[in-house]
Amino acid sequence: MSENLNTLFHVPTSDLNLVMVEMGQAFRTGLNYDDQNIKMIPSYVKELPTGHEVEKVLALDLGNPSLILGGTNFRVLLVSLEGEGKVSSRQAKFAVTEEQKKANGTVLFDFFAAKVHQFILAENIGEIPHSLGFTFSFPVYQTAIDQGYLIHWAKGFENEGVINCDVVQLLQQAFIRKGLDINIVALLNDPVGTLTKHAYRNTKTSIAVILGTGTNAAYVEEISNIKKLKSNESGHMIVNTEWGGFSGSSLPINRFDIALDRSSENPGKQIYEKMISGLYLGELTRLVLVHLADDRGLFHAQVPNSLRKAYSFQTAYMSQIEMDTSDLLLDVSVLLRQKYEIESSFVDRQVVKYVCQLIGMRAAQLAAAGIATLVRKIDQLDDSTVAVDGSLYAHYPGFEGRMRDTLFELLGSDAGNIKIEHATDGSGQGAGILAALHKTI
Ligand code: ADP
Ligand code: MG
Repeated sequence: MSENLNTLFHVPTSDLNLVMVEMGQAFRTGLNYDDQNIKMIPSYVKELPTGHEVEKVLALDLGNPSLILGGTNFRVLLVSLEGEGKVSSRQAKFAVTEEQKKANGTVLFDFFAAKVHQFILAENIGEIPHSLGFTFSFPVYQTAIDQGYLIHWAKGFENEGVINCDVVQLLQQAFIRKGLDINIVALLNDPVGTLTKHAYRNTKTSIAVILGTGTNAAYVEEISNIKKLKSNESGHMIVNTEWGGFSGSSLPINRFDIALDRSSENPGKQIYEKMISGLYLGELTRLVLVHLADDRGLFHAQVPNSLRKAYSFQTAYMSQIEMDTSDLLLDVSVLLRQKYEIESSFVDRQVVKYVCQLIGMRAAQLAAAGIATLVRKIDQLDDSTVAVDGSLYAHYPGFEGRMRDTLFELLGSDAGNIKIEHATDGSGQGAGILAALHKTI
């Protein structure tokens, strides 16, 4: 049983090398042309912070899921750049209700403006900063640092009158209606904010990776390499890769990946992401466990309905299972009983843990292959810092170690020059830092 699974999920170095070659090609094609496999979206961020900036600015963060409030988060932040690489912030969090997600666009943006107003009053912040950075985690066609058009909504939003419109303008008009003297000077998404935030702390940061619900990466590219911009400018720009959209024949896809993809909300899309990120790893594990029970006698060949339910097996369970190093795997036993009323044998539990290890390992290997490809692309094998944010990276035991081992496997001793650092709150504080860098008054 185990040998078979091992062949399905184990990725030899030679295959990871093929992934690197194909991703490298996809990065280049994405820089040359619009709408490619890896989109390589220019961010119009041409300047990174030095860490010495001292400033107070506002930031908005829309589109990250809210674990506590449910639904989607909307945050308002007062971000203080304190110099010496230190940033602090005060914030208010609001859940966007299902009703608000279906309202007219004007109603939605007026709600944001009202919350900004409320925050300013409640926080008693004295002189109100004029500049605001806006993290908008939806597909946007960006045309300037402060201009971007919504391509389509996601995450349950359906507000009319926003698609194909400049979301900065829509928010700016809502501020004007509310009488707020605030300028939206930067529009960004999560990985761009993460790169900026971490660069404020550590100016060597040139790559940011998100390993959470989804996966994405941003990095600093030479403008002359972003051919589709058709610009004569020199210098650098952050590129938002949208690498989660990568697919290609080099990806070691097996029948469980295919099953997951087919029954997903976006079949055929985000294939790399479906092998790596938190939204999917638990589901992939569940599909394998159900197969092993149905066909190979796991759990006495009995699958409770609770385990048959799609997405019932959270990626966080994998963390708990991998963390259990007790002789009899008692935590695994408790988890299976509590979540699925499964009375497991010791062998069952060993198999469950083994499946988690295989799937967690493959995810870390593939993420590391992406990082190695980017480090090679920017030719920073001698010294580079990669900022990583997301709960999968932060909480999955051994994820970072597996990535690091894979970097050595792929890059040899040069991997020792790559620092992987945990980044936090790029979507909030990163937006603030970009607002400070782009403020006009
Ligand atoms: P987002 O990426 O949506 O901004 P997070 O970075 O918090 O938010 O990632 C949330 C995702 O991380 C969840 O969808 C879940 O799959 C995964 N996750 C949360 N907790 C854990 C954990 N303990 N172990 C592994 N994965 C986790
Ligand atoms: Mg996040």
